[in-house]
Amino acid sequence: MVSRVIPVDVFDLVVFGGTGDLARRKIIPALYRRFRAGQMIEGSRVIGSARSDFDTESYRAFVAEAIDEFIADHASETVAAFLKSVHFVKLDATGKEGWADLAKLMRKDVVQAFYFSVAPSLFGALAERLESHKIATADSRIVVEKPFGRDLASAKELNATLEAHFDEHQIYRIDHYLGKETVQNLMAVRFGNVLFEPLWNALFVDHVQITVAETVGVGGRGAYYDRSGAMRDMVQNHLMQLLCLIAMEPPARFEPDAVRDEKLKVIRALDPVRHDQIVRGQYKADGEQQGYLEDVEHPDSLTESFIALKVHVSNWRWKGTPFYLRTGKRLKARMSEIVVAFKPTPHSIFDEEAGSKTNVLTIRLQPNEGINLRVTIKEPGPGGMRLVDVPLDMTFADALGPVAREIPDAYERLIMDVIRGNQTLFMRGDEVEAAWAWTDPIIESWTSRGSRPHPYDPGTTGPEDSLMLLHRDGRRWREIEDYGTD
Ligand code: NAP
Repeated sequence: MVSRVIPVDVFDLVVFGGTGDLARRKIIPALYRRFRAGQMIEGSRVIGSARSDFDTESYRAFVAEAIDEFIADHASETVAAFLKSVHFVKLDATGKEGWADLAKLMRKDVVQAFYFSVAPSLFGALAERLESHKIATADSRIVVEKPFGRDLASAKELNATLEAHFDEHQIYRIDHYLGKETVQNLMAVRFGNVLFEPLWNALFVDHVQITVAETVGVGGRGAYYDRSGAMRDMVQNHLMQLLCLIAMEPPARFEPDAVRDEKLKVIRALDPVRHDQIVRGQYKADGEQQGYLEDVEHPDSLTESFIALKVHVSNWRWKGTPFYLRTGKRLKARMSEIVVAFKPTPHSIFDEEAGSKTNVLTIRLQPNEGINLRVTIKEPGPGGMRLVDVPLDMTFADALGPVAREIPDAYERLIMDVIRGNQTLFMRGDEVEAAWAWTDPIIESWTSRGSRPHPYDPGTTGPEDSLMLLHRDGRRWREIEDYGTD
């Protein structure tokens, strides 16, 4: 199969925070790959910007180093060609200098995008100056990163700040999980096949599990993380988005507002979560590594590095089917997956010795993206009728050959969508606010009770109580296991 690359229109992309960690690790490598693939064509420009003392020449050296560090196989001629499109403007988001230079450099007759890869406290200053210096046009796009607020009030404030200068159709709120190939494939599998949709409801789905497990601790982000915790850092955004894609009704068309309207309905249908349906944890120290409390240098911290919740979507389709969500740090393996566990057949025609199996659809986001459906067949051989379940594996790298060997990073897809002006995979303002409106009372319920997260051993699946969350319902989590690398 040959991959089709459709070049995007010529653009000027300004990366505010162009010297930061996100720019170096994700944005620059993503742009380079799209250039190499022929999607970013000649004439397009990447304009890094920050307060640091770079000029275009030294910034090109910085970009070349980032490519060197994060892209294993790069040809020097391609890098040299890419660097010609790279520029730098030194400016302070909160100051006066540099803005006239940026205004002079920008072209009005190409697609303009501004990536706010800076702290959210600078969003207002950037938006205001882009307007007052007449740099942005009615068609310019701005891209903002998580965290989008830390509660409903701050998210509303952030939305109001951006909306004072830009229309909603110009604002691209990134949740990089939505840029993952498998997440988009989830929509293709659900809505491009007749097989799944008739079964996709509480009559046939026993339960859904969504797991995002990390092996790393909070590392150097201790102080930031401790003000946030797993609920704010992961559940309110990434896990919520995955839940929406699983639970939403089919939109009439695959168009931005049609998709986002359906996701919003799911968020609004979420029941409040009782405190006995939540398990929070903090990783302990082990031989070599510090525990959470030492990592964040806050011995009394009540912030969770692990959370598991049982969530209900109260609508006709899902009434009675629980969604179990869990995410945590310093766990046994790094993996993200969604499991849709179907109910048993209504009646078994086989005798008890045959055993009984149920169908399970697993959508793996990382590592080694792919979709796997377990189906029941007869165990081969003359020994009578015994049932086994076997995987119908749709690991993309195997099924699609060279095209899928290098699955594009989520940022590649998302940045190209910004240039194309397609907001389908970005969160709308009302979606983000609805997600906080559901999250706030949950956080408030444990804050007001002063409840302490359960300590858990690193390298495990989290606190014991999270196993109980499912055991009480006669179910069990899928193993957190290593699927190899991506
Ligand atoms: P970072 O490494 O601290 O970089 C911040 C960037 O902002 C630097 O380029 C800095 O350059 C620039 N900057 C700071 N103050 C400025 C000012 N007053 N005017 C102009 N530029 C200024 O941060 P980051 O990790 O790249 O994160 C950027 C944003 O992405 C944040 O909102 C973060 O929450 C979000 N995010 C990051 C990641 C990640 O993996 N890193 C993941 C998800 C979301 P100068 O100091 O030279 O000005």
